[in-house]
Amino acid sequence: SHQRIDVGDGKDELTELANAYNAMLNRMQRNIEQQKQFVEDVSHELRTPVAVVEGHMKLLNRWGKDDPVVLDESLSASLQEIERMKSLVQEMLDLSRAEQVDIHYKDERTSVRELVNQTYNNFQLVHPDFTFILDDDLSEDNYVNIYRNHLEQILIILLDNAVKYSTNEKTVHLSASNNGPNIQIAVQDFGEGMTEEDTEKIFHRFYRVDKARSRYKGGNGLGLAIAKELIEGYKGEIWAESVLNHGSIFRVELPKLKDQENQTSDETRKH
Ligand code: ADP
Repeated sequence: SHQRIDVGDGKDELTELANAYNAMLNRMQRNIEQQKQFVEDVSHELRTPVAVVEGHMKLLNRWGKDDPVVLDESLSASLQEIERMKSLVQEMLDLSRAEQVDIHYKDERTSVRELVNQTYNNFQLVHPDFTFILDDDLSEDNYVNIYRNHLEQILIILLDNAVKYSTNEKTVHLSASNNGPNIQIAVQDFGEGMTEEDTEKIFHRFYRVDKARSRYKGGNGLGLAIAKELIEGYKGEIWAESVLNHGSIFRVELPKLKDQENQTSDETRKH
C-alpha cells in the first residue's frame, strides 16, 4: 500500500530524503514479513499435534470405549502430544519474552567450573546409558557475569541435543577452558552431525535439519534460538562446528570476570 518515492538519482536533499524513506519502508516490510513467518511457523507446529490428538479422540469415540488396548494406546499417545504442545507453548513464551527484551538479564558472578560439574553430574544420573566425559581445564579463576540459571539453561539445551542427536556412539564430551580473555564451554557429540551450511541455520527458530526425525525425537527447533538469545544478552557467543554423520561441537564463550569484578552483585538490568 505504501508507494516508494522515485526522484531519479540527483544528489540533492530530496534524493537523500527519498532514500531514507525507502530504507525505512524496507525495514518495516521485513519486520512484517518476519512476524507473518513467525505466526505461520507457530500455527504449523501446533497443527500436527492437534491433528494427532483429534485422530485419537475420534478413534476412542468409535471403538475405544469397549477396547482397553485402543483406550490405553490412544490415551498415552494423546498425552504425549499434549506434553509436546505444552513445551512448545512454554518455549514460545520464553522466546517471545526474550525478543520483547523484557527478559531480565541479571548480573551474577557465576562459577563456570561449579556449574559445569553440577550439570555433568545431573546428566550422568538422567542418562545412565551415555558416557559423559568431563574435561575441566579451568584454573581457580573461572567466573563469568551471567545469571546462573541462564547459563544452566543454555548448557541443558546443548547437552539435551547432544544426547538426542547421538546415534550409535553414546559418548558426550563436556569441557570448560580458558580462551584468551574468555571462558569457553564446549559440548561435543559423535552423532549424526550436519552440513556446514546447517551449522548457522540451526540457530534460527523452528529450523530443524530433519523435520520428521527431530519431531519424532521431541524437537521443535526452538532450543538453540533461545540459547543464542540468552548468551548474546551477556555479550557472549555461541556457534557450532559439525561434520555430517560424524558429530558436532557446540561452543559457548563468555568474557572472564577479572578479580576486581569478582564481587557478588545481583542487580537486575534490562536490555
Ligand atoms: P530441536 O528441539 O529440534 O532439537 P534446536 O533448536 O535445539 O531444536 O535444534 C535445531 C536443530 O539443530 C535440530 O532439529 C537438529 O536438526 C539440529 N541439531 C541441534 N543439535 C544437534 C546436534 N548435537 N547434532 C546434530 N544436529 C543437531
